[in-house]
Amino acid sequence: MAIESVTCPSCGATGIQIDTTREHSFCSYCGTTVKTKDVLHLDVESVTLEKLKRNAQKSFDVGQYGNARADWRKVIQLDRTDHESYFGIVRCDMATRPDMIFGQDAYAEALAYAPAEIRVQYIRYAEAHNIRARAVQAEIRNSKARAIQEEIARLSSKHKWQLTLAILLTIFTGLFSIPAWKKYSETGKEISKSWEALNAL
Ligand SMILES: [Zn+2]
Repeated sequence: MAIESVTCPSCGATGIQIDTTREHSFCSYCGTTVKTKDVLHLDVESVTLEKLKRNAQKSFDVGQYGNARADWRKVIQLDRTDHESYFGIVRCDMATRPDMIFGQDAYAEALAYAPAEIRVQYIRYAEAHNIRARAVQAEIRNSKARAIQEEIARLSSKHKWQLTLAILLTIFTGLFSIPAWKKYSETGKEISKSWEALNAL
């Protein structure tokens, strides 16, 4: 007999004793059949997982979001139900995209795999971020609107000046100045486009 202390892959109980010379043992907590081959493999993986997760958190704490994200992705490749890693990726995304509203992809996976009490924390964290993101988005829209309004004001004064010029040319030459009226009309179209862009914000 060779007794090893492992983690049950079914209920997660740690320190269960299995006989590694036998193909199967039983979990003393949940009674599940535990395959020796599977748990020994799993334990090697769980050491790697914990190390990756520690490194990811360290990178995150010092603002190396690319490295943190890469390590959390590796964890997910090994365990696609690791909600902490999904949420880690979400935290990286939030840190690098303060204007982004979250509710998809990694965030949805984190919520799907997290136990209820953790899920509530994730939702609170994301909601707090989303409130800030909406404020950032509003500020971006406002500054875009200000820029377009300034552009409309500039074009409008140009438009008036072009109208005056076209009228004067027509009066003084006695001819309808096609280039002058064309310029006037083009500026009018630019003004319409700017209004459309402003309304589309
Ligand atoms: Zn068990």
